[in-house]
Amino acid sequence: MIKISFFLLALVSQVNAATDRNYAGVKQFLADLQKNYPKTVQTFTLGKSDSGEDIVGVKIGSGEIPNLVVGTHHGNEYGSTEVALAFAESVADKPLNHQTMYVIPVLNIPGYNSRSRHEMANGRYHDANRDYPSPCGTDGPFNLKSTLALADFVREKGIVGSATLHTYTGAALYPWGISTHDVKTEYDELFIELTKTATAHSGYQFGNSTDLLYPADGTFEDYAFMEHGVWSILFELGYSHSPSQADIDKMIERNVPGLRDMFTSMPSERAEKHAFTGKCEARMLGLDRRDE
Ligand SMILES: [Zn+2]
Repeated sequence: MIKISFFLLALVSQVNAATDRNYAGVKQFLADLQKNYPKTVQTFTLGKSDSGEDIVGVKIGSGEIPNLVVGTHHGNEYGSTEVALAFAESVADKPLNHQTMYVIPVLNIPGYNSRSRHEMANGRYHDANRDYPSPCGTDGPFNLKSTLALADFVREKGIVGSATLHTYTGAALYPWGISTHDVKTEYDELFIELTKTATAHSGYQFGNSTDLLYPADGTFEDYAFMEHGVWSILFELGYSHSPSQADIDKMIERNVPGLRDMFTSMPSERAEKHAFTGKCEARMLGLDRRDE
């Protein structure tokens, strides 16, 4: 009888592994990945967050093109963490040709552990994905150590393409997603091709955030493109901020192949014409719902 209870307990905890995972569990997952793929995977520390904890990631493969996947700018969006971990495992098992893939599953550690959107620094809560320099406004820039560490990392490593993972609309979004009517970049056709490829398995919508969701100023995606010409795509995964294990399995099944295909078809160099030359619209500033 006791044995059966233990068995059931173990089964239940396994079933809820993804939805209940905390940051210690994420670090364990990455350490195990390195152990299982010692020739391909290396863990690294991005830097310290304001909570004093190390933000960790994995470097996978050793190709000449450095690309990046980041989950969980918003701590409550744990579904994005799971897709990042599954993507890391997939690439570790089968690296992408010519690429070195950096995966940081959780940027906002305290938010992730408490399942809350914001991250605290100096006694105030901040929205990590409104904390980057941006043409039409920002909450920051860089109120948070986590966002500054990520910006430094992108510069130092010469990141070419990136995917940042969020929940929950079912969309792949490219620049410009800011408070402007001038949402076109010089590369709209290419961005459309990339996001079409990325969403072929999921059937998600694709476009810019301003048109599809709402304008958001100070996001990583617009910053990385504006500052460096990084091919930066934001994913709104699934249809819930509190996905069940079955929802998460579906999100992984539908998005990991799309992410692989997208990075495979990404340019090998950054965009050249990445300055924002449009006009900001002050009247659009209040449209940011801040719920995704
Ligand atoms: Zn989000």
